Amino acid sequence: MPPRFLIRFHDFNMHTKTLTQLARDLKAHKLSSEELTRAYLARIEHFNPELNAFITVLRQQALTTARAADACIRKGDAGPLTGLPIAHKDIFCTQGVKTSCGSKMLDNFISPYDATVVERLNKAGTVMLGKTNMDEFAMGSSSETSFYGPVKNPWDPTRVPGGSSGGSAAAVAARLAPAATGTDTGGSVRQPAALTGLTGIKPTYGRVSRYGMIAFASSLDQAGVITCTAEDAAMLMNVIAGFDERDSTSVDRPVPDYVAALDQPLKGLRIGLPKEFFDPGLDTRVGDAVHAALSIYKKLGAAVRDISLPNFPLSVPTYYVVAPAEASSNLSRFDGVRYGHRCENPVDLMDLYTRSRGEGFGAEVKRRIMTGTYVLSAGYYDAYYLKAQKTRTLIRGDFLEAFKQVDLIMGPTAPTPAFKLGEKTDDPVTMYLNDIYANGVNLAGLPGLSIPMGFVDGLPVGLQIIGNYFDEARLLATAHQYQRETDWHTRIPQGYE
Ligand code: GLN
Repeated sequence: MPPRFLIRFHDFNMHTKTLTQLARDLKAHKLSSEELTRAYLARIEHFNPELNAFITVLRQQALTTARAADACIRKGDAGPLTGLPIAHKDIFCTQGVKTSCGSKMLDNFISPYDATVVERLNKAGTVMLGKTNMDEFAMGSSSETSFYGPVKNPWDPTRVPGGSSGGSAAAVAARLAPAATGTDTGGSVRQPAALTGLTGIKPTYGRVSRYGMIAFASSLDQAGVITCTAEDAAMLMNVIAGFDERDSTSVDRPVPDYVAALDQPLKGLRIGLPKEFFDPGLDTRVGDAVHAALSIYKKLGAAVRDISLPNFPLSVPTYYVVAPAEASSNLSRFDGVRYGHRCENPVDLMDLYTRSRGEGFGAEVKRRIMTGTYVLSAGYYDAYYLKAQKTRTLIRGDFLEAFKQVDLIMGPTAPTPAFKLGEKTDDPVTMYLNDIYANGVNLAGLPGLSIPMGFVDGLPVGLQIIGNYFDEARLLATAHQYQRETDWHTRIPQGYE
């Protein structure tokens, strides 16, 4: 017998609605935030044991926030997001709530403060349902490296949901939350969105504050959102984007109204199709889906032209020098002294460090720390790290050249649909290659977005749209207008309707 609120939820079909539609219903008093929150909590209780999308569920806290939101709505004080439930990736610090980053190292960590993204969404009146599962310290493309066990893809529970924001993606795909936050260092918002049939945006580096986001590779990390539609993403971007003096890389530049810009005409839009994206690693059926999506854009008045990003194939090796280098430095703070896991009965300080870190970190994190330490070591710095910084500049330069001729770049988000759990865990390089079309965008600091563009073997595949710096409004409008012409984004995995 499903819980009472699950039945009521199905009566109203609330979980099939988008964030935008739910916002309208709340405003029109068709439902209360408490009802909505209870319904999502009931779905989490029912489906999470199978999916493992959440690390922490905040039942009491969510209901208290929802009641406060309802009072706000009754008084006429509500903003566009007041009372809407949301899930946060467990990489974002949440005051008074466990923030584990998917690691045993932080299994006991209760954050004393909120990340800026969380603080802004809280202030906007959203209701935090819980914290979502993820690859340990956001290192991965499958959400299998979590200390809390792998996340399952609601489209096929024998497959991965992508990573590292796989818990957020699985939660939204299964409609256990109408939207979720994520982070993208080398594809971790776009790739899981693609593998679960969702919309995911990684904004320009510096557009959204990184304050309170546990650092992986600081020159690449950027917060984003995973939603059912581009319209929903625009609504959340309106709140999370903008300058924050607590993040020194945050850019002080006005934030446009992303929702208001969704209808800007696409006529005359110049889309670039890089030939390097159609490499032998690409499943040809994914390539066909890209061409089908492009034909819709042509119908909408856009012009498609072939372009080249000659250094793009260097993205993966460049990323896997830069990201581990920065990670090895960022993760040195986890020493068993200040916070996080501490080993039992250390005999001296060195024993405390080595055993605490040895016990607290999983295999992939250790691999990255070792790689990073190696490429930064005195003898190899020039050969690897410096070289990678140079190829990074070349990759960025290719994009800048391309944006002289086109407004947007399109291609696949990932080379294949979701792969099987365990399929790539023994071979890190094949795992890394699932982000082959994503890494370069982070190296250049550009905004990128993924939207559902069809199915291959019954599994969703994503179209990646890459924009010039701070061109998120155009990215979202381009995605939104595709979603007005297609219905891929409305599909819900079987068993979760
Ligand atoms: N899959 C990439 C990695 O393992 C990207 C991860 C991310 O974007 N956080 O590093």
